Amino acid sequence: MGNTDVTMEKLVSLCKRRGFIFQSSEIYGGLNSCWDYGPLGAELKRNVKEQWWKAVVQGREDMVGLDASILMHPQVWEASGHVDSFSDPMVDCKKCKHRFRADHIQGDKCPECGGELTGVRQFNLMFKTFMGPVEDSQSTVYLRPETAQGIFVNFKNVQASARMKVPFGIAQIGKAFRNEITPGNFTFRTREFEQMEIEFFVKPGTDMEWFERWREERLQWYVKLGIKKENLRLRDHEKEELAHYARACSDVEYLFPMGWSELEGIANRTDFDLTQHAKKSGKDLHYFSEDTQERYIPFVIEPSAGADRGTLAFLADSYAEEEDRVVLHLDPRLAPIKVGIFPLMKKGGMLERAKNIESALRKHYNTFFDEKGSIGRRYRRQDEIGTPYGVTIDHETLENGTVTLRDRDSMEQIRISEDKVVEELSQRFSRLP
Ligand code: ATP
Repeated sequence: MGNTDVTMEKLVSLCKRRGFIFQSSEIYGGLNSCWDYGPLGAELKRNVKEQWWKAVVQGREDMVGLDASILMHPQVWEASGHVDSFSDPMVDCKKCKHRFRADHIQGDKCPECGGELTGVRQFNLMFKTFMGPVEDSQSTVYLRPETAQGIFVNFKNVQASARMKVPFGIAQIGKAFRNEITPGNFTFRTREFEQMEIEFFVKPGTDMEWFERWREERLQWYVKLGIKKENLRLRDHEKEELAHYARACSDVEYLFPMGWSELEGIANRTDFDLTQHAKKSGKDLHYFSEDTQERYIPFVIEPSAGADRGTLAFLADSYAEEEDRVVLHLDPRLAPIKVGIFPLMKKGGMLERAKNIESALRKHYNTFFDEKGSIGRRYRRQDEIGTPYGVTIDHETLENGTVTLRDRDSMEQIRISEDKVVEELSQRFSRLP
């Protein structure tokens, strides 16, 4: 069923209106398939990336992080196979000139106008640019189409400097660029996007066991952060779908408004990448195990997620239209603003009291101060952007130092001492799974 409240139009409109996501270069008419994250979107996406990093790097003793550069030696992309074969099959309609990915359409007629299609051509998805002042083939470099290769070429540096023993992983978050033939569905498929990738190095023979573990682990990450189980599934690739070097691949799919689509791919890439780079660079990329005195090229399990697709899924899944409000039931850890502060009235010292409470909260959380409009409207404005808590300062605060703490999801309100708000919120955050 999916989330029946939400459509892509509603999401795009909410994102624009409240400052989550804007069309890139909008004042110039926009740049197709590029999007800018506004104040709330920047916070939300940061939180998604932070939760990922916490789960896969900070929370594990067998993982370390990396931040490699976007431009890499051109031979990297020859070794990885991207120069020869990182392409999508493309067809054009001879009549309306629309362009399609051949594997995304059925039949041999144009889905837009029924016109005749050209034959299939392969289109390389890598963006090219030039390094230095001379624009020739010698100076061609590529914007990386995935972050993974930055990890593979640093395998030895990281393993030796961090003294990691197989099995271990390297994780990285960063921009990637693909000249997609048919971008679309808002931020789902864009030409510039951010990936969150892990390359997990294991002893050959233990690879399928680790593949299964990562499949489950990555699915659970989305569930823990609040995506409804029924809107998530794992889809194993058929043999014909597998890249020639992959032994197995499984996608975490989410039921987006346009249907089930890939959020993240988990692949068993065998020893393909390290072997290729060893051959091309002439460097020895074997691993030597002191414990067992064995020497081998590790196999690699790759969970590869998109930060933008993840962010879009968290938005879509949390969206709800309830009696008299639109609300984002975002996990509090992901919510851009954690707590709203509302002085009931401006007079009688309420404003100053509220400002003091806000400055205490601001040390720990992103806050939003709102003194305008009826209290109901102020609550609803925060509900719509997913703020999990609201603190209201009223007459009673002036009398006995208590405030109202309102919960976004249950709309329950309790009174607590103004000195206890920071502690209460920290307890609620620490109880999250
Ligand atoms: P698709 O089949 O949708 O083109 P893919 O299988 O080529 O995706 P991968 O190469 O496995 O994608 O990339 C890993 C992850 O990076 C994807 O699961 C997705 O979250 C993200 N990603 C890939 N391409 C894009 C894109 N054009 N826009 C946004 N995110 C992307």
